[in-house]
Amino acid sequence: EDVINRIAAGEVVERPASALKELVENAIDAQSTRILIRLLKGGLDGIEVIDNGIGIPADEMRLALERHATSKLPDNDAIEAVTTLGFRGEALPSIASVARLTLESRTADSDSGWKIIVDNGHFEKEGIAPLPKGTRIKVDSLFARIPARRKFMRSAKSEYMACHDVVRRLAMTRPDIAFSLEHDGRRIFSLNGGESRQRRVAALIDRTLKDNSVTVEYQRDQMQLEGVASLPTFHRGLADHQYLFVNGRPVKDRLLIGSVRAAYHDLLAKDRHPVLALFLTLPNSDVDINVHPAKGEVRFRDSQAVRSLIVGALRESLDLSGF
Ligand code: ADP
Ligand code: MG
Repeated sequence: EDVINRIAAGEVVERPASALKELVENAIDAQSTRILIRLLKGGLDGIEVIDNGIGIPADEMRLALERHATSKLPDNDAIEAVTTLGFRGEALPSIASVARLTLESRTADSDSGWKIIVDNGHFEKEGIAPLPKGTRIKVDSLFARIPARRKFMRSAKSEYMACHDVVRRLAMTRPDIAFSLEHDGRRIFSLNGGESRQRRVAALIDRTLKDNSVTVEYQRDQMQLEGVASLPTFHRGLADHQYLFVNGRPVKDRLLIGSVRAAYHDLLAKDRHPVLALFLTLPNSDVDINVHPAKGEVRFRDSQAVRSLIVGALRESLDLSGF
């Protein structure tokens, strides 16, 4: 059982940022309106996610830490009907198998919270915990017992940047939720919930983009592309500032990245990249978003149509701006 969990953990938890992604997605799935993330040394020394969501009933907390225990599959197990970010029930047990995990939670109708500690797959202790409604998960000593893996971690700085990137992308998808990020006791950002997507995106991307970008709003057949894209004069040396979303989920898809590059081809100097946030919406039957959720890969039924939509939308938007 432990070995199985550790193997699964390799898939889910490559580095602090991948554990963090799972925890924040769980907080979103729990209908939270406020999510606080605290990191120590890029998450290598600690990851803490606190939400005000529905919580986990005390008698289900052990189960939540077991493999393939999910509360998110519809009764008929129809994966197509899943609207949550998770449904595999692998994240918590995987993380708990390679770290020390403290899970505290309280539902709206219970008088107090409950706390369970699991250390590298071994139950340590549980008991009552004072807690407002919601869930608090702390992950310490990630990979401390797996030196071979710990060795592969990069500097705290680069782990931090990867964590920041994960939070930034998820925060862009849910401007209705308040997000705060702290690193080594320092407030990185604090965003109010209930703001427009435009405001949320602007708050998270380079502020100077505002005067150097166009709004993208484009519809073709059943596909829609919305967002903000920089003028070719405003660019970066790395493609890190391209935030791409499919049906509300952050993705890092080759086809989309290639399409963006094609749209800006001839407009940008070599090795320059536009800064943009683009939200593609299309019917669920035209895309498989769960090919490799951890890696953000998707598969489109008609990739040519997607490519042509993106190139067309960007070209038209950039032309309209009078460039
Ligand atoms: P999945 O998200 O695929 O269901 P996880 O391993 O990520 O699996 O989580 C297991 C279960 O624990 C979830 O199905 C959910 O019931 C519960 N859970 C985890 N995190 C939270 C949270 N922040 N708030 C409420 N419930 C949670
Ligand atoms: Mg999950």
